[in-house]
Amino acid sequence: MAEKKETESAEKTTTAKKTTAKSSGAKASTAKAAADKAEKVVEKASEKAEAVAEKAEETVKKTAAKAAEEKPAAKASSAKSSKTPEKPYSTAGAMERRIGAIICWVLAIVCEIFAICLYTGKLEITFMKTTIALVILIVVDLILVIIGSLLWKKANHIDPASKKNKLKFFLWNNMGVIACIVAFLPFIIVILTDKENKDPQMKKIAGIAAAIALVIGVLFSIEWSPISQEEKTAQVQYSEHVYYTQWGKKYHLYEDCSHINNSDSKTEASVEEAINHGCNGVCKTCAGKYAAANPGQSYFDIQDAVEGGTN
Ligand SMILES: [Zn+2]
Repeated sequence: MAEKKETESAEKTTTAKKTTAKSSGAKASTAKAAADKAEKVVEKASEKAEAVAEKAEETVKKTAAKAAEEKPAAKASSAKSSKTPEKPYSTAGAMERRIGAIICWVLAIVCEIFAICLYTGKLEITFMKTTIALVILIVVDLILVIIGSLLWKKANHIDPASKKNKLKFFLWNNMGVIACIVAFLPFIIVILTDKENKDPQMKKIAGIAAAIALVIGVLFSIEWSPISQEEKTAQVQYSEHVYYTQWGKKYHLYEDCSHINNSDSKTEASVEEAINHGCNGVCKTCAGKYAAANPGQSYFDIQDAVEGGTN
């Protein structure tokens, strides 16, 4: 408002000056008026600039105050994350394997979608029989599911989920089975609910192939030797030389243990390496032998191994 009045008065003065200039007819006074005008414009501009600067400063102050408010929260969260104890084993490679597994499963589901489209006639191919194409798609689907599950299970042994979060622990150990079911069951349902039955032979072959693939996929996807973050942490602190075999769920303390005596795939390793390979605990025979040979000294989870362990 004040600015407007100023402008008005300024304009009035200018007009007045202009009239004076006109009446006198002197060029010099016109120049003076122009100079005055320019000065006013500059003054106004600088006033405006000052106002803008003030506003900007206010905004900066407000943002700073907000940031200061948020800082304690950020500090608290960082303190939380630093509270979780560092894992006594390397988790390198786990994330890459999980990403690889998810990519495989997504591709497997894409195969299934193609198979459903082919079966229902939404998609047609001319270069081969639909039944053969369906079987090929089911096989590729199965291979992708299995690769995904093997990658996922390996990641679970490198970086196991904590038992404290029951849902996550369940999901992490059963993700392969879930992916397998998603990758086959909808297709099987489409076949089973197909009332038109245009091609009975195709229905039979595709149905049986998909059912077999589902069973094989689930068997490969089941986590046969689940391990938790807590179990791995407890075990890797022992650096004894252990032995594992290609498919064994338990690692062994003695090379001549009867369970691995005849195995060709016996590998000497650290506990961490044995767990990463797929083991989830110590062999109960070995743990018992160790307890007998070392009275008073308890091997870490002999009791667990003796009570609930298998070979
Ligand atoms: Zn053993």
